Amino acid sequence: MTTIQDVTRYLEGIAPPRYQESYDNAGLLVGDAGTELTGILTCLDATEAVIDEAADKGCNLVVAHHPIIFKGLKRLTGSNYVQRSVQKAIRREVAVYAVHTNLDNVLHSGVNERIAQRLDLQHYRLLAPKPAQRKVELFMPAAESPELLKRLHTAGLHGHPAPGGQLRLEGVVDEDRLQEIRQWIGGHAMHSYPVDQTSEQVGAGMVGELPEPMDEIDFLYFLKDRMQTKVVRHTRLLGRPVQRVALCGGAGSFLLPKAKQVGAQVFITGDYKYHDFFDAEDQILIADVGHYESEQFTIPLLRELLSEKFPNFAVHLAEVQTNPVHYLF
Ligand SMILES: [Zn+2]
Repeated sequence: MTTIQDVTRYLEGIAPPRYQESYDNAGLLVGDAGTELTGILTCLDATEAVIDEAADKGCNLVVAHHPIIFKGLKRLTGSNYVQRSVQKAIRREVAVYAVHTNLDNVLHSGVNERIAQRLDLQHYRLLAPKPAQRKVELFMPAAESPELLKRLHTAGLHGHPAPGGQLRLEGVVDEDRLQEIRQWIGGHAMHSYPVDQTSEQVGAGMVGELPEPMDEIDFLYFLKDRMQTKVVRHTRLLGRPVQRVALCGGAGSFLLPKAKQVGAQVFITGDYKYHDFFDAEDQILIADVGHYESEQFTIPLLRELLSEKFPNFAVHLAEVQTNPVHYLF
């Protein structure tokens, strides 16, 4: 028997939940992990219409990019689309799983690799790699100053009583904090080990090079075509060729300083705000392809990953279009 948990465990191997951003809410949002799987539907947004589509197609699991429950839900009375989607999922016995910023933050098989591949980028790498992490273990007398223990606790180290009146503290910390922690604990012994992934494999955004430099305007048309978007909103052309391309699926404006830092001639993302366009400062070309459009290739990506691993189950792409933004020309 294949369960919903078999699917979520597999996805967690590709995009571990611990790689999600602190504000995120990825994971199993609705449903019982132990339920037998009947089929999977992949989408960006698990709206009511998508839940219906899944149930009508005999799928009892929706794998979405965006978590439909993002903030706390205090009641379920059907008064907004989030509540209605959750109620629908419960009523139609469809589980909802979201793989969000954890899928944004992986180098391989993630949201941004798919965009880099569509743009034929070479040597692509993470734009903002997360610091490498280390597992830390240390022992100290249980009677150690409460202030120090509190500080270590805040740094992510948690204590357990150990034999001989000792306290064993352990946790996972960013590599660049090790030195500081060593200073705090003075003479106490501390061990640390690398955590599975290296920093080169976890982080936000991506940067790579086009095989050949392109004219800015040619590149923008190429981008529009490859990203299958009706509109590209962009800053002033700078009259220079484009070769190094930085990108981030979804709302990535926070990565603009990084894109400049790595010397990209263009930065591609979605959801840019009017005032934020000014930050280009004639140093880079910002191109906004739309939030949904930038992430739309995640739907087939998830389908590919899932149908490869679960060939005996139907894995459908949502046919319902969930982009809430429409364009009038
Ligand atoms: Zn998004």
